[in-house]
Amino acid sequence: MNLLDSELVASKLVQAGYEPCEDEALAGILLFNTCSVRDHAENRVWSKLGALRVRKEQEPELLIGVLGCMAQEHKIYLRTRMPHVDRVCGTMDFGKIDEYIAEIREKREGLVQTGDGASGDLVLRDVKQRPNRAQAYVNIIRGCNMPCTYCIVPATRGVEVSRPIAEILPEVEALVGDGVTEVTLLGQTVNAYGHDLPDKQNLSKLLRELHAIPSLRRIQFITSHPNFLTRELMETMAELPRVSRYFHLPAQSGSNEILQRMKRLYTREKYLARIRDLQELIPDMEFASDWIVGYPGETEEDHELTKSLMEEVRFSQSYVFKYSPRPLTVADDYFEDDVSEEIKARRNQDLLAIQNRISLEKNQALVGKVVEILLEGPSKKGEGRFQGRTAHHRIVHLEGVGPQQVGCYLPVRIEKAMSHSMMGQLVDEERFTMDSRDAGDEGILSA
Ligand code: SAH
Ligand code: SF4
Repeated sequence: MNLLDSELVASKLVQAGYEPCEDEALAGILLFNTCSVRDHAENRVWSKLGALRVRKEQEPELLIGVLGCMAQEHKIYLRTRMPHVDRVCGTMDFGKIDEYIAEIREKREGLVQTGDGASGDLVLRDVKQRPNRAQAYVNIIRGCNMPCTYCIVPATRGVEVSRPIAEILPEVEALVGDGVTEVTLLGQTVNAYGHDLPDKQNLSKLLRELHAIPSLRRIQFITSHPNFLTRELMETMAELPRVSRYFHLPAQSGSNEILQRMKRLYTREKYLARIRDLQELIPDMEFASDWIVGYPGETEEDHELTKSLMEEVRFSQSYVFKYSPRPLTVADDYFEDDVSEEIKARRNQDLLAIQNRISLEKNQALVGKVVEILLEGPSKKGEGRFQGRTAHHRIVHLEGVGPQQVGCYLPVRIEKAMSHSMMGQLVDEERFTMDSRDAGDEGILSA
């Protein structure tokens, strides 16, 4: 969501005549789009801002802005601690960023703007302004109404507001018209989409409308809450083959005690039942989860239950976080952060070790098979290599392709499996069915 917000801010500024600058040292305006979910993310911003103090003294015309959740959370305090910051602009107010910058340049005085100004959705998106030619994020619901006790998001992003289908559809059509073949729909509780809109608009209805766009080949959505995974949504996903077969459904913990204290509003049994229902409808569905270790009061038994849930579902990916108390949350107000850093670190490692083993086993099962990947760009792993993703969101590295193939769907034979990715070799395209709709959606292709 932050990546998309940054993209929208950039798009707005380019429309207003500004140019993006590759080198931070040469930029005249520096905008930091921030995250408050964990203190680690915040600390990085504080140190980055602190380091700019000297530059601002030497270069007073440099304009520094802080956008997003930290701006919303710390509001005036942010400018007290970092007086060289010119602009503080919350999550619901960056739609007018160009006007704010013009205003500061004129008046040369710092301003704090949070609250109910124009949200990002009011930014008229220039679909041509985006980092990837074939892939795009589309926001469909902002904010969060859930009561998760550890989470600062509802405080920084406000209540849920869905965008009408009539607004989303033309945006996706315009993106597809400009070459996009994969969209990722975004929301904190993306599957609660539409409950605040008239005419029974919901995620199933939206998915059906998007699925009818002919050249849109992959439709993903993140992040779903287990409680809004309805039968209707499961059946819709099963019916629509171009809806992703990788499903991010954070469990957070495998212990009912902890789930209850987190106010996740489901039990381990209910979570598992949803997974089983979806597996029955879509046998090749892969799952991913977020986990928090060291939540206040988490015992060794609770931790064992999380480990066993991981083993039971055999997720294809896990994002594991050490609990960090956040201001403006119930857990911070009422519970002591009583699990030591050492234990948090060990539990974190425990979960990662289980996940790495399972991911490796899943990837090894694909060695020798041909899968379809969407080539995403140069590989982070090494010179001359490129990387792409399968229909199940697995990363594949390969050689022998070039930048001109980025954005293409390619058949690749898997040669080697690691836990986080696989190595593959491009195979003769002619011999394989290239349409993911016919690809049996492991994205496994047949000769
Ligand atoms: N809306 C999404 C996720 C939002 S935050 C959802 O409900 O799934 C992303 C992840 O950060 C969460 O899933 C959770 O695992 C983690 N997280 C949130 N607050 C945290 C905290 N205080 N400490 C550690 N991890 C946290
Ligand atoms: Fe945070 Fe829970 Fe909302 Fe996700 S659903 S953003 S974890 S409050």
